[in-house]
Amino acid sequence: MASIFTKIIDGNIPSYKIAEDDACYAFLDINPAAKGHTLVIPKKETDYLFNLEPDELSGLTLFAQKVACGIDRALQPIRTGLIVEGMEVPHAHIHLIPIYKPSQNFSLGKKTDLDENQMKELARRIREEVRL
Ligand code: 5GP
Repeated sequence: MASIFTKIIDGNIPSYKIAEDDACYAFLDINPAAKGHTLVIPKKETDYLFNLEPDELSGLTLFAQKVACGIDRALQPIRTGLIVEGMEVPHAHIHLIPIYKPSQNFSLGKKTDLDENQMKELARRIREEVRL
């Protein structure tokens, strides 16, 4: 059965899309740890990130860099951090989490309440600044 993220890539489940290319897709995390928390995933469905082929992993990482730079330009955090965990969804993904203050609790546990309009607006602002 297709993973929830494959369903998102295929458009069968809606997402706040940020960017995509032939091999990668980026969209806002539905339970953001901070404003602009973005997931970057390979289109190829693989559970464990480090089971990707080396060229797939490097392509995903370079794609994530472009998305992170777009987040930085759009939202002006101090910087954008990266977490890889993958214990919830069995489809490899990189979390990009903007850090707005040094004391920010940088973890997946802390969630930020954002309504649909705020999520749409964040996605639009980041999308405009991502240069693939
Ligand atoms: P992990 O597997 O690294 O623990 O985290 C999975 C992440 O995927 C979580 O942060 C969760 O909020 C996010 N997530 C799970 N289901 C969906 C979904 O249907 N849409 C979006 N945008 N994010 C999801």
